[in-house]
Amino acid sequence: MKYDVSERLIWFKGELVHVNDAKINILAPTSQFGLNVFEGIPCYWNEDEHQLYAFRLDDHYERLLRSARLIQIDCPFSKSDLKKAFVDVVKANEYEENLSVRQTLFVDGFGSWGSDGPTNMFVAPIPRGKTSAEYNKKGLNVCVTSWRRISENALSPRIKCGANYINSRYGQREALRNGYDTCLFLNEYGKISEGPGSCFFMVKNGKLITPAFTDAVLESITRDTVIKLAKSLGYEVEERTIDRTELYTADETFLCGSAMELTPVLSIDRYELGCGEISEILHRSYVNTAKGLNPLFKNWVTAIYTE
Ligand code: PMP
Repeated sequence: MKYDVSERLIWFKGELVHVNDAKINILAPTSQFGLNVFEGIPCYWNEDEHQLYAFRLDDHYERLLRSARLIQIDCPFSKSDLKKAFVDVVKANEYEENLSVRQTLFVDGFGSWGSDGPTNMFVAPIPRGKTSAEYNKKGLNVCVTSWRRISENALSPRIKCGANYINSRYGQREALRNGYDTCLFLNEYGKISEGPGSCFFMVKNGKLITPAFTDAVLESITRDTVIKLAKSLGYEVEERTIDRTELYTADETFLCGSAMELTPVLSIDRYELGCGEISEILHRSYVNTAKGLNPLFKNWVTAIYTE
């Protein structure tokens, strides 16, 4: 790494600038109303190959563009513009470690919450050592929060926009107040949806079960990765509605996301759960795949250092 974290370079409105010089107008709709859509894109350092791999870059850009379309903000960037900005800023920082890269389309200017532009972008690499304590834990004690997950008919959880995370915050803050590490949300129909920044899986009799896309969850890239890896390893996977009491008798449970990878759940509502073998196998497979070591899914990784 060429730059210290406090000095790192950020791609901001078409230029590479030091993080302290990347300033957003306080009256911009992104500042006032969280009017932005974003991705957290993981990069994995492969020491043997001396290479940094971005994981499922195209899938992140497809979701970013879907989010922009759904929230109706203009997007002046093509997929190749998005990718070029990403590669340029990661390369410029000369990282040789795992990263989470925040790539955000935000509504700038002096409009309001109803504005569709002007849209601009920043790409900010975050070295992985600095992710939140929650993500660095070996296992999580989880509660079912009393707050409901945002719903398709009010504020769709399918859209990865800044404002949606206020709902995540409600659940997370309640969990911390009550001595838990994080929470699971029920959806408006009282069925399991997801964590504040992660998707949920349970294992029962060797089969993986995760809520369906229509149960109020983000279209998570890690969820999709886990499903495909599990199937490639011969496990059965079911995407279906989950009842609350099913949680307490699961053989294994874990939360997953680009930042937390696969993190085992130690207990839910103080019902103790086993940390299981299948979660561990899938976690190992996930990390190997993201480092470009799984020939079946080599097309999921993009090498950053090509010249
Ligand atoms: N659900 C929510 C609410 C999230 O914020 C995240 C993290 N982006 C996830 C699920 C996991 O999504 P992904 O695997 O694409 O990171």
